[in-house]
Amino acid sequence: MRISQSWDDGVVDDIRLLALLRQHYATVTFNLNPILYRSQRTLSWSNGNRSVWRLGRDELAEVYYSFEIANHSMSHQSLLNLAKKELASEVLDSRLLLQDWFQQPVRGFCYPFGDCNPTVKEAVRAAGHVYARTIIECDSIFPPTDPYYKVSCMFNDPAF
Ligand SMILES: [Zn+2]
Repeated sequence: MRISQSWDDGVVDDIRLLALLRQHYATVTFNLNPILYRSQRTLSWSNGNRSVWRLGRDELAEVYYSFEIANHSMSHQSLLNLAKKELASEVLDSRLLLQDWFQQPVRGFCYPFGDCNPTVKEAVRAAGHVYARTIIECDSIFPPTDPYYKVSCMFNDPAF
């Protein structure tokens, strides 16, 4: 069985996750939005009674050392109705920034909210990404018929 994992948004909980992943020699991709990081950790949103903190910019390289980083857009807004220039910034500028920060090629893209249409898909491809992920679940994703693929299980899926 092949398992491909990716985690989004670069949150403090990833530190605990990364310890488990390293313990089990698991490879994972982390999808990040570069403009959302401040130098220190920031409270980003609440999930019920739980506060979700985003990692600080100053700790990203150390926290994610040796893991693949993928692009999750610059600011995590839906890309569906953006002007061409703004779409390019969200997709290409974000990729370039992440490549600079992590000194690794950024090949993957994860659509914010899973939102995708042919215009967005083409912008992602034109920016140099070779694969992308939505949040739409389907039964079987290997081998993907399209490098811009769906997922088989989300973290909040009861089957996970
Ligand atoms: Zn996200």
